[in-house]
Amino acid sequence: MPQVTRRDFLKISAAGTGAAGLTVLGFDVAHAAQIRQSFRIAGAREAHSVCPYCAVGCALVAYTKEKTDGTVELLQIEGNPDSPVNEGRLCPKGATAMQLATSARRVESPLYRASGSDRWQKISWDDMMDKLAQRVKAARDATFVAKDASDNTVNRTEGIAFAGGAAFSSEEGYFATKLMRGLGLVHLEQQARV
Ligand code: SF4
Repeated sequence: MPQVTRRDFLKISAAGTGAAGLTVLGFDVAHAAQIRQSFRIAGAREAHSVCPYCAVGCALVAYTKEKTDGTVELLQIEGNPDSPVNEGRLCPKGATAMQLATSARRVESPLYRASGSDRWQKISWDDMMDKLAQRVKAARDATFVAKDASDNTVNRTEGIAFAGGAAFSSEEGYFATKLMRGLGLVHLEQQARV
């Protein structure tokens, strides 16, 4: 940046318009305007969301743009400055939220590793849901406790634990709790307390 003497500074102030002064100070206003116009989020559509990683619930803004072939491209995800929760800031984990959508390493279908196997195989959602249901039933049947040591009826499932995620809405949390309590689970936890 060029040296600005006190006399220069007074001249700049007197100029009043700012643009000429900023150029003397080393800022190229025309160039800055050009840069602003070439922002890749210029003209993008804004969609609001919430970071899924923890219970702080930082608000996000996702910028998308429709490409010439009609597909929608995700350009950027950043903190929402209007949110009273995070005021535009994100922690390092939240700042990588875009990777959830764009990472080449993202897992896009269920992977199953059979007992004793050293490799994962892709299976359908239906097959995975069947396996989960079978495992839940088997674990519940094997660990269900109808009465405790004092012969009190407890009807609880001690062999399964459930942890809810921070991205749960209130309704999802309510539904999950109802379902798990219905199965007799007593070990319920939420990511907010982990
Ligand atoms: S940005 Fe960080 S602090 Fe905020 S919700 Fe996401 S993980 Fe939590």
